[in-house]
Amino acid sequence: MERRNTQTKEAVLEVLSQSGKALSREAIEKKITTGINRATVYRVLNRFCEDGVLHKVVADNGKQYFAICTNCEDKVLAGHHFHFRCLSCETIECLPVPVDFSPPEGYQVSGLNCMVTGTCSDCTV
Ligand SMILES: [Zn+2]
Ligand SMILES: [Zn+2]
Ligand SMILES: [Zn+2]
Repeated sequence: MERRNTQTKEAVLEVLSQSGKALSREAIEKKITTGINRATVYRVLNRFCEDGVLHKVVADNGKQYFAICTNCEDKVLAGHHFHFRCLSCETIECLPVPVDFSPPEGYQVSGLNCMVTGTCSDCTV
């Protein structure tokens, strides 16, 4: 069990770092070729999010995606950078652009979702 966990963890990280984009759980499962089990992938993804290895991105279409954390030191505002959804190739990626946001007095923020849609640099060429 522990062994399968480790293998799945490595596979998930490899898929995400190779793609360089945020991927849905279905897409991650599809790209992992070695025998894995869906329940394990699900657990590994949630575990990675708790540990600050990955963060969840909820797109404007309601779907969830997972991205590798690079500059996510602010755990509360895990979505403190912009995400970009390309309408042409349907990919989602983290943009290295910080969100300059502070709530008005009296508001406690537990989540922040900054989704930009348009055409990504790969598709603009
Ligand atoms: Zn993150
Ligand atoms: Zn694109
Ligand atoms: Zn991100």
